Amino acid sequence: MTRAKSPLKSITLSSGRFRITRVDCAGCVQGRKLSCKVRGEINIVPTTNKKDELDTWVHEAMHGEFPRMTEPRIAKAATNLARLLWRVGYRKGRQ
Ligand SMILES: [Zn+2]
Repeated sequence: MTRAKSPLKSITLSSGRFRITRVDCAGCVQGRKLSCKVRGEINIVPTTNKKDELDTWVHEAMHGEFPRMTEPRIAKAATNLARLLWRVGYRKGRQ
């Protein structure tokens, strides 16, 4: 259940246009769930673990790019891409 949303931006991916929001979901962080699925939206639960948050952004974007890809393949590829981005220095809030 979504408690609060703050719209950020929108993005067009291969399967359509998505509104991007940060949300506070009841039980999301405690249950290690860092996103909420709503059609046409990418909803991310902000977390203090920035590496996990990067993985989640990549994961949800990959669902938008490859809507028929299985969850295990998305999860593995997203984690690998997030690890690459993290290793080369991409961090939230840095310019
Ligand atoms: Zn997924």
